[in-house]
Amino acid sequence: PVVTRFAPSPTGFLHIGGARTALFNWLYARHHGGTYLLRIEDTDRARSTDAAIEAIFDGLRWLGLDGDEEPVFQFARSQRHAEVAAELLEKGCAYRCYLTPEELAERRQKAQEERRPFRIDSEWRDADPSTWPEGQPYVVRIKAPREGETVIEDLVQGAVTVQNAEIDDFVILRSDGTPTYMLAVVVDDNDMGVTHVIRGDDHLNNAFRQLVILKGMGWDIPEYAHVPLIHGADGAKMSKRHGALGVDTYRDELGVLSEALFNYLLRLGWGHGDEEIIAREQAVEWFDIAHVGKSPSRFDLAKLQNLNGHYLREASDERLAELVLPRLGGDADLGLLTRAMPVLKVRAKDLNDLAEGAAFLFAKRPLDMTEKAQGLLTGEARGRLAAIHERLSAEPEWTLEGLEANLKAMAGELGLGLGKLAQPLRAALTGQTTSPGIFDVLVLLGRDESLARIGAQAE
Ligand code: GLU
Repeated sequence: PVVTRFAPSPTGFLHIGGARTALFNWLYARHHGGTYLLRIEDTDRARSTDAAIEAIFDGLRWLGLDGDEEPVFQFARSQRHAEVAAELLEKGCAYRCYLTPEELAERRQKAQEERRPFRIDSEWRDADPSTWPEGQPYVVRIKAPREGETVIEDLVQGAVTVQNAEIDDFVILRSDGTPTYMLAVVVDDNDMGVTHVIRGDDHLNNAFRQLVILKGMGWDIPEYAHVPLIHGADGAKMSKRHGALGVDTYRDELGVLSEALFNYLLRLGWGHGDEEIIAREQAVEWFDIAHVGKSPSRFDLAKLQNLNGHYLREASDERLAELVLPRLGGDADLGLLTRAMPVLKVRAKDLNDLAEGAAFLFAKRPLDMTEKAQGLLTGEARGRLAAIHERLSAEPEWTLEGLEANLKAMAGELGLGLGKLAQPLRAALTGQTTSPGIFDVLVLLGRDESLARIGAQAE
């Protein structure tokens, strides 16, 4: 059975790249009827924070990517990691290295002066354990192979070969007895039964080191899939400037729906023909590693917004109104907001657009006018508003059809285009020059509020 995991380090928010890694792991597990696990890699005590852990959980929950089981916290497993280090020592796959940091620094410098690549050639590598001095500080290093080469058949990158001479005897246990990241990852993946390691390709080099530990322990080697990182629209590595923001920023500040971000992240580096709109269920059915691209994908905010617009139009009016309400401040009314959604969401790209578009509904009289709207309210226009006010006051039923028929008839009688009435009317009703259709506006505002707003601008 397939077991995947997402293993973020809680040193910052859940950014877009991390969220995509989580998504691919989740999808792969779902597609194969497997299990998707979460592991918080909190071994860097100085940089890991509870706030970051919360932000990660929050972002994953929002995207519907929480783990299938309780999350594993890596730091809590330090004892187990140290036990594995001890076992590797016992098997002769690792050794105590008593070289001091000063000695290492000296050797590194010497190599630099002699212009040769530095390699940790520790004389302790082959020392007999009986000669290990007790009571002196040491680190535990893995005994990496020196001859031959290692090949990883990566599911994304294909066959990747590294000369073993390039793999150093890296530290697995520090002199204070704490495990290094390299050791912890391997032990945890093994103990959690992870079969597929899907992660950013910045970890590809680590995979060769991790293999040394795996082989030393005689553990099963998982399948690897190293996914290219996300780049900005300009092709440079993704940074804040490119929109490498926390998932919460997309939700809270940019007003993106979770299913839109889900769909967008899916398409960022994976494809199914020309399909752009791929919802959750469909994604589970189609997802495979074979169609993960080998080259970095470029982040494209406009594309995300387009998708978001699509999902806004699919979303229920009730849900959207709930999401938009807190963006409107005090006086907004959920019922009216819900009724307005069908006309508001036609052109909106995000929740902010919806909030902006809805604001006029809850504006207090006298309305704030944009400069353009003010410009429309000429003396002539105000006179027309008075006539409109009189006529609509007698409107028997305040319906879309009735209002439309009435105003069209009025325009006809005056020998004017409908626009000559609609423009000042829009300004009076919304304080703006753009809004949903004028009859929709009248119906949403209702008779009393509409007549009051018209009356306030009429002369
Ligand atoms: N904790 C690592 C990171 O956040 C991921 C390690 C892994 O996936 O093996 O980059």
